[in-house]
Amino acid sequence: MKAMVLNEIMPVESEPLQVKDLPEPVPSQGEILVKVSVCGICHTELDEMEGRLQPSLPMVLGHQVVGRVAALGSGVQRFRLGDRVGIAWIYSACGKCHFCKEGNENLCFDFKGTGCHANGGYAQYMVVNEHFAYPIPERFSDAQAAPLLCAGAIGYRDLLLSGIKKGQTLGLFGFGASAHIVIQIATYWGCEVFVFTRSEAHRDLAKRLGASWAGGPGDHPPRKLHAAIDFTPVGETVPKALKILEKGGRLILAVIRKRDLIPPLDYSQHLWDEKEMKSVANLTRKDAEDFLSLAAEIPIVPEVEEFQLEEANRALLLLKQGKIQGAAVLRMGD
Ligand SMILES: [Zn+2]
Ligand SMILES: [Zn+2]
Repeated sequence: MKAMVLNEIMPVESEPLQVKDLPEPVPSQGEILVKVSVCGICHTELDEMEGRLQPSLPMVLGHQVVGRVAALGSGVQRFRLGDRVGIAWIYSACGKCHFCKEGNENLCFDFKGTGCHANGGYAQYMVVNEHFAYPIPERFSDAQAAPLLCAGAIGYRDLLLSGIKKGQTLGLFGFGASAHIVIQIATYWGCEVFVFTRSEAHRDLAKRLGASWAGGPGDHPPRKLHAAIDFTPVGETVPKALKILEKGGRLILAVIRKRDLIPPLDYSQHLWDEKEMKSVANLTRKDAEDFLSLAAEIPIVPEVEEFQLEEANRALLLLKQGKIQGAAVLRMGD
């Protein structure tokens, strides 16, 4: 099978992913073989390629996978051949530690990420345990469904953790794949959304998707924010967001790694009045399942730009440069 493989950590500008011909994986007990149709690309892949996360090497990246079940390992019960499934960032969790038992499998001591600790979806086939794959609602095409699996599902977790309520103001910093889905949930929930991004094109998209105000990262919105989500890979956004939070407001940090340091915080300007800051780590299977049904109910309409699998390096470079509108997906081809 054809796959794009990461062998060595290097900047995305140096095209770290190589086209390889790998043997088709064989499903073990409880696993399904998935013939991949499309795989979304995510900032996390940039973190893996550039060494801010440490994937096992060599590795097939990719954790927003949509495809069809092509073979069943022994004992598989949830799926049949030909079923359409999605695979998200959570590849496995131990099921035994106290985090797993308390419903926080995203924090499992033995958490494994798809395309980081096990081969992911930048390939024509991949295997996964049947309990870590999800049926995809009918109304979405394969390409529309892919960004729901990380950008959407983790964005949904971000929103839940932000504690935002109907009628409140939500700030979104950065307006990429995740934010363009989050805004659709937040407006559905009756929140007012302000978007902060440098990109003119992203501001236009934000307004089209329901933002009542869009400006640059240092601009002042019409009102203070009850909650904010920071999707940017840079540290400087954190004090800017904290400064315009309402008393008791909460800032959610939605990226796995920041490219640079968070500048020093001033206690009175950034933290006083019970302001809070919280990171989001991974997601649970429940997040993915709950979000997929909510996405079908709203319905979320993802903006998707398609690339061929072999164009993965170029697509990821465009992502790093902020030049993707909405979400980007790789199509496998035959
Ligand atoms: Zn992701
Ligand atoms: Zn566990």
